[in-house]
Order: sequence, then C-alpha cells, then structure tokens
Amino acid sequence: MADYTIAEFGELPSKGKIYKENINPVVHLRTMTTEEEMRRLSPTDYPYKVLCSIIDDCLVEPIGISSYDMCLGDYQYLLHRLRVVTYGSEYPSSSFCPVCGRINKVILNLDELKILPFDEQEIEDILNLELPVKGSKIKLRFTTPRDLDEITKEEKEFQEANPDNEVNINYLLQLKHSIDTVDGRRLDKIKLDVFLRQLAMKDTNAIYQNMIKINEKVGIDTHIQNVCTNPKCGARYATTFRITNEFFGPTIN
Ligand SMILES: [Zn+2]
Repeated sequence: MADYTIAEFGELPSKGKIYKENINPVVHLRTMTTEEEMRRLSPTDYPYKVLCSIIDDCLVEPIGISSYDMCLGDYQYLLHRLRVVTYGSEYPSSSFCPVCGRINKVILNLDELKILPFDEQEIEDILNLELPVKGSKIKLRFTTPRDLDEITKEEKEFQEANPDNEVNINYLLQLKHSIDTVDGRRLDKIKLDVFLRQLAMKDTNAIYQNMIKINEKVGIDTHIQNVCTNPKCGARYATTFRITNEFFGPTIN
C-alpha cells in the first residue's frame, strides 16, 4: 500500500465472539483513496455490499470474515473507524431542540462515541426465546449488512411479482432473516414463510422485539445528549447519531 495512507487499530465491539468463524477481533484499517470513493459513489442496488467491499479492502490484514457478514454493530463500528482514519474524528452535526425549536449545530467527536459493553450471557438470553403461545424454541441470529441488501431485493421482487400487493412484506422479510432455527431445525424459506404467517401475533411480536433488541446490543452507543444553545432555553434532550453527507465527504472550513 502507498505510504501516504495511514492506518489505525481498533477492536470489534463483538470481540469476534458471536461468529462461527475463528476471527481476529483486532482490526487494522487504512485510509480510503479516490479509487474507493469512486466505488462508493457508483449507483448500485446493493449499497451495503459496496460499502462492505470498501471496508474489506481497507483492512490492512484480513480478519477471517467479510464485513458483509458481520453483525450490524461491528459493521457500523468499522464504518466509523474508516471515517475517522480517512477524515478525522470531527463530525459536524445538527439537532432540533424539542422545547424551543432551535436547530443546534455541534461538532461531534466520533472518537468519543462509546462502545456498548459486550455481555455474552445477556446476548445468549436474547437470541434464544420460547414463544409464549406456541411454545416453540426460537434461535435468532444477528442481522448483517447482507441481510439488509437481500431484504430490499426480496421486497422489490415480491412487489414486481404481486403488483397489487398492499401489505407490508418488509415486516415478514425482517422476521425471516432474523431466525436461525425453530426447535433446533433450520427451516427452508417456504416453510419459514408458512410458519411465520400462521403464528399468533403475540409470538410474532416476541420474535420481533428480541430481533430489535439483539441488534442494539452490540456496537456503538448512538445515543447523544444535547444541550440547547438558546440562552433562553438551555433544554437537555436526547437524539440518536445520524449519518449525513458530512460522514464521507466532510465540508472543509
Ligand atoms: Zn431549546
């Protein structure tokens, strides 16, 4: 690699413990180049695949798994590290004060965003649940960037095949992608479809709630505490981190 790029070290929030593969959780990431930016800007139906291939290429040493197959928290962490090593940690952001309506501008320091503590037992408890009505034992899996691309693709295909469809197919697709096994067995797509469609809503909701929970357990803590800069207000309020054009392609003052 050319010597004008720099590289930084970091450790995956999951510490590599959630993967079947034996992986090295210590990542060594170099800066993006124009080549990678051109790829990032190219039109695609698979936006996560493109970003993940850039992340993978910027990993100075391979870690044993593609970021496309990592949990969303690890992927998001790598995306943040890639941004910091390439452009630095200053991130101009703005938030809306819910009390007085002022738009508060702030420079966030991406290095100060905290990594969620990794608790293996807690994660196991969320991944494994027993359905309250049917009693089936469900094992969930972490959502990956690949899942997100596939859900978008499958939703589009379903809509093209069923132009009159008015139900929210995305909900079902998210659930399908979140299930690893049912009573210890891996169901094929069709069986899983039938299983989920016929499930009592109390059971489906249990799966859905745990799916949301598990994907928020690993990664960067994206909660941001704000103080309104309006001297007559000064309200404290919480927002969540958002990726804007300032993330890749920050304006320079
Ligand atoms: Zn305010």
